[in-house]
Amino acid sequence: MQITRLATPTHETVLRVHDASIGLTGFIAVHSTKLGPAAGGLRMRPYDSEDAALTDALRLSEGMTYKNAAAGLPLGGGKAVIMGNASQKTSAQLLTFARAINTLEGKYWTAEDMGMSPSDMALLATETKYVAGLPDGPHASGDPSPITARGIFESIKVTAKHRFGNNVLTGRTIAVQGLGHVGTYLCEFLHEAGVNLILADIDAKRVAELAAKYNAQTAGPDDILTVKADIFVPCAIGAILNKDSIGKLNVAAVCGGANNQLATAEDGVRLHARDILYAPDFVANAGGIINVATEVLAIDNRAAYVDEKLAAVVDTLGRIFSRAKTLDCSPADVAVAIVDEMLADKAA
Ligand code: NAD
Repeated sequence: MQITRLATPTHETVLRVHDASIGLTGFIAVHSTKLGPAAGGLRMRPYDSEDAALTDALRLSEGMTYKNAAAGLPLGGGKAVIMGNASQKTSAQLLTFARAINTLEGKYWTAEDMGMSPSDMALLATETKYVAGLPDGPHASGDPSPITARGIFESIKVTAKHRFGNNVLTGRTIAVQGLGHVGTYLCEFLHEAGVNLILADIDAKRVAELAAKYNAQTAGPDDILTVKADIFVPCAIGAILNKDSIGKLNVAAVCGGANNQLATAEDGVRLHARDILYAPDFVANAGGIINVATEVLAIDNRAAYVDEKLAAVVDTLGRIFSRAKTLDCSPADVAVAIVDEMLADKAA
């Protein structure tokens, strides 16, 4: 295995991990450890080039710095990527990658991301202790989706309060895009709260199942972006809020779980210009990383820790909305500025 340290001015440490004999090329990017050890998942997917894989690792690890800080976690931001088709990954690749993680001596903790499963994490754990998302063990945190959904549900209530003047969801119409792990748990919370749901997924069978369960309306995967509703809840793919889609939205607010919902930073400004209140994704969806943090930090009373951190996230989101209103600017810009202040304070 060859490990090469890449000089990247924006990040603390970036490693290129390569072993031609087992078809392994990947990167570990540590964006910041100012608030604690960097934590963020390991992603495996085909990339067009090494540059594309490196760019993904750099972008995602920076995103983790913001997400972890906004959640009030004593964790920094990191992310790792392996180039290749996840369905063809080998044990040798994962074990070699685990040894590369060890060279950072705890500066980076990994967990599941796209292309990785709990059993892959268990395999990594045979070689490194810097891994979370394990299927079992004393602090294993399990599936983060229910906690992610809980955080989004609470965030939707805060969004409703700031957009409509109260946080009562009964009778509101909410359009949910993506009925996977997070979307499914979230629909349960929303239905319980008396919300009229409009549901969409590329999996038509899933839509039909949940629509029947919750007496919901349905929309096609593209139409969900244009349906009339109070709040749009993206729980599928990234970059869904972009130059084209924002002009078509027929809602008063957006608050969902998908990562990287804004295609560009300007899209936050576009939403603000249309008077659509946007809950920054890395704040609203922090429940998942809070759950993972209980494992990284070996928290004994997980339920109490999750409750406390989720309450703080809701509080932070409220402060973001208030400040955005005062400054008449995008909540996305305020959220980034708040984390930048936290990091600057830490450095001072
Ligand atoms: P998932 O893969 O279980 O579900 C995604 C769902 O979206 C699937 O049902 C899929 O069919 C659907 N989908 C894909 N493309 C679509 C499209 N164009 N239109 C409509 N539906 C589409 O994923 P998940 O774990 O539920 O995560 C959902 C989002 O939330 C992702 O962006 C993920 O990164 C983010 N997120 C998840 C967690 C977590 O705890 N799982 C935490 C934080 C953020």
